[in-house]
Amino acid sequence: MSNCAIVGINWGDEGKGRMVDLVTADYDVVVRYQGGGNAGHTVVNEFGKFALHLLPSGIFRKGVVNILGNGVALDCESLWTEMSDVMDQGVAITPENLKISDRASLLLPWHRDLDSLEEARLADKKYGSTKQGIAPFYSDKYQKKTIMAGELLYPEKLWDHLAGILEWKNLTLERVYGAKPYTMDDLKAWVAEFGEKIKPFICDTGAFLRQAQAEGKHILFEDYGIYPMTSSSNAIAAYAPVGSGYPEVKIEKVVGVVKAYSSCVGEGPFTCEWFGEEAEKLREAGGEYGAKTGRPRRVGPIDIVATRYGIQCQGATDIALTKLDVLSYMDEIPICARYELNGQETDAFPFPAVLPDAKPVVEYLPGWQCDISGVRKWEDLPEAARNYVEYVEREIGCHITYVSVGPERDSIIIR
Ligand code: GDP
Repeated sequence: MSNCAIVGINWGDEGKGRMVDLVTADYDVVVRYQGGGNAGHTVVNEFGKFALHLLPSGIFRKGVVNILGNGVALDCESLWTEMSDVMDQGVAITPENLKISDRASLLLPWHRDLDSLEEARLADKKYGSTKQGIAPFYSDKYQKKTIMAGELLYPEKLWDHLAGILEWKNLTLERVYGAKPYTMDDLKAWVAEFGEKIKPFICDTGAFLRQAQAEGKHILFEDYGIYPMTSSSNAIAAYAPVGSGYPEVKIEKVVGVVKAYSSCVGEGPFTCEWFGEEAEKLREAGGEYGAKTGRPRRVGPIDIVATRYGIQCQGATDIALTKLDVLSYMDEIPICARYELNGQETDAFPFPAVLPDAKPVVEYLPGWQCDISGVRKWEDLPEAARNYVEYVEREIGCHITYVSVGPERDSIIIR
């Protein structure tokens, strides 16, 4: 078994959580290497239905060690809330099965405030942020104005470091946004409430990964973010070694998760977008409402141009095509095969500034119009469904290894 990364190829919500939950059976260690509480991954298994935000999806598997690497936006508040929910449903979380990198930076209370304040300032030009503080967090990290989780273990040094950052951050809060400043007492109360809870899980996860590999253990790198379409975090597979604190590791297999149609939360160009009744039907069929926010997602047909670009960015070696069952109601299956830009058809993903000018060129394949959610073998899929999968495979130029036909762990066809 080789080291493997699982990454999203489109605009998020492709079903990554479900794929990770499936493949963790073959791995000993699951690592999250970037992003934070902005993600929302639905996992359905024997413990129930969960929307995971920060916890690696291997948390449900006995014997699997889960790691939050140095590249994540470590939101102790959101993490502790999530850990409590998951533990309440009978899942054990201990320092044996969850390890938090001492080098991960803490997402602090003002990051969330700044996210909301900036979205409000932008008004109709807002990014459509999930307001979990991810963009302000990563920009502070670039500015070396964050606290590492390991500092929680050295309180005297922590207060001193935090006081300096607090002074600097209050300038922005008060003078740029006219918002309420924070005090050291606020921060001490926050650390006492949430930082203390995660302390037992903090360790040198890079050293743990090296040791695990030396012992022949298999490592799965899990991406919860969205690249290249948005997000301030670095969700590409190539970042996994760095964001995991194990830069020299080799990742041989990259599974890109692609949805059989497109969906997108938030603002920004979404070339293949459908509106009106046909969008409503697809949204209903796919249950396309945000796991974190409940917002209706924008939907449309699969976008070959954006998917091919996503696969290149991620260096995917295998594809998991999810939610094929959702298309079963359609007479014809729509595919955004190319874009039209300035009167010319193109296969290339445009430069972001001109992306809003691109129009979708849509082709149709025959539908299958029957329930495929019980199918487990490739040859048992209706011919029209196989044709659709093969068409997509040819156009995106990457082998579709998994076809998912339902949210449950076993609703999968492996080719
Ligand atoms: P993630 O963020 O990429 O993990 O995706 P989300 O959890 O936001 O969205 C995926 C949704 O689709 C979840 O509700 C899953 O249970 C569901 N899902 C995943 N794969 C399939 C599938 O093949 N068919 C159906 N019908 N639902 C699926």
